[in-house]
Amino acid sequence: MSDSIVIIGAGQGAAAFAGKLRALGSDRPITIVGNEPVLPYQRPPLSKKYLIGEATFDRLLLKPPAWYETNAVTVLTGRRAIAINRTKRVIVLDQGVELPYATLVLATGATPRRLPAAIGGDLQGVFTLRDKADADALMADFQPRRRLLVIGGGYVGLETAAVARTRGLEVTVVELADRILKRVAAPGTANLVRELHKGHGVAILENSAIVRLIGVDGHLTVAELTDGRTISIDLAVIGIGVSPNVALAEAAGLAVEDGIIVDEFARTSDPDILAVGDCARFPYGDRLIRLESVQNAFDQGEAAAAALIGAGGAYAPQPWFWSDQYDAKLQIAGLHHGYDDTLATDGPRPGSHAIWYFAQGAMIAVDALNFPAAFVTAKKLLEAGKRVCRLDIETKPLKELISQ
Ligand SMILES: Cc1cc2nc3c(=O)[nH]c(=O)nc-3n(C[C@H](O)[C@H](O)[C@H](O)COP(=O)(O)OP(=O)(O)OC[C@H]3O[C@@H](n4cnc5c(N)ncnc54)[C@H](O)[C@@H]3O)c2cc1C
Repeated sequence: MSDSIVIIGAGQGAAAFAGKLRALGSDRPITIVGNEPVLPYQRPPLSKKYLIGEATFDRLLLKPPAWYETNAVTVLTGRRAIAINRTKRVIVLDQGVELPYATLVLATGATPRRLPAAIGGDLQGVFTLRDKADADALMADFQPRRRLLVIGGGYVGLETAAVARTRGLEVTVVELADRILKRVAAPGTANLVRELHKGHGVAILENSAIVRLIGVDGHLTVAELTDGRTISIDLAVIGIGVSPNVALAEAAGLAVEDGIIVDEFARTSDPDILAVGDCARFPYGDRLIRLESVQNAFDQGEAAAAALIGAGGAYAPQPWFWSDQYDAKLQIAGLHHGYDDTLATDGPRPGSHAIWYFAQGAMIAVDALNFPAAFVTAKKLLEAGKRVCRLDIETKPLKELISQ
């Protein structure tokens, strides 16, 4: 078909792209190819409500099954794209079937990093958490009093630790860096989150790494740490970050460097191929960045769809993110990269705090723990491009900052 759109990856970015195209009235044929056996769904609950058993899978679906039929969007589930042939303008699926495209969208997401098999990464009882199958496997092993080791103190690891603790497991977190959340937050935020976990009985070992995982009969039993300690464990979750899924793009000769390089309209180095979401690296100010967030996959997916049919302009990211741990909610507005100053403020009730980030005197981000007013204020200020400084935040009520 001469105007057909094929999307590889059936996740957040794919659903946003297809949804926006139809909302804008485009009737171009759309086929989404996804290697998971299910329709596009939200991943965040996999380390939160779904993992703890408070949300069923149907509540995670991004669109009801009938939407795809009503909107003439074909979803090929359980199918993997294995190659892109740019000369023939087809993608090749497993089993060799070819799908022609006029526009191809890469929304392939990212893959969790694993530990090498040589140090026990392939033992039974070692998990990563990226998709429904991972969460289902983990849930089955989340039994009270079992001993869980979380390797990596980032958001997914810490959320998993919180769920496990709530389910009655004994939990230890090991973090290679000198503190948890090193890549994503300031020390002030890490301190708040560390205290939260300690208050729930989680052992957090910073400056500590795995030498190897050891098993008996192929099943994990012990972790050996760099400080010489050994810990007896029943299961481990590896939360050491993700790598963008770029193999197809790379093999097809597209520009790739820590993500598929795209412009502000999500166009790769081949203008008929777009990339959105976790797999794409795009312009942000004077640099290229990659974001791993729902906000980015959704907004970039929508912006790319609008731009494709001439109904929208450049993608202007307004980053925000959240993390739920126990009954605490951490909300993040803006990007803290390049900050040179921070300010801690307290919210209206015990346990509510904000860490504000500044660069060259201007507020660039906030981490708000149980403090929605700080999050909303920062988000609005950043979206409106209003400059506020440390003194403004120290001295003025939040409401006044927005109206000033
Ligand atoms: C446990 C967890 C918790 C998270 N929590 C938060 C949170 O609290 N807040 C937040 O903002 N973000 C969170 N995220 C991140 C967020 O879910 C991602 O940023 C978002 O899903 C990215 O969307 P995407 O469309 O780029 O990729 P995905 O949603 O990952 O979709 C990509 C899909 O493409 C498929 N695929 C890849 N290659 C192929 C191929 N060759 N053929 C066919 N299919 C393919 C993949 O299997 C996957 O199904 C979380 C992620 C995880 C895993």
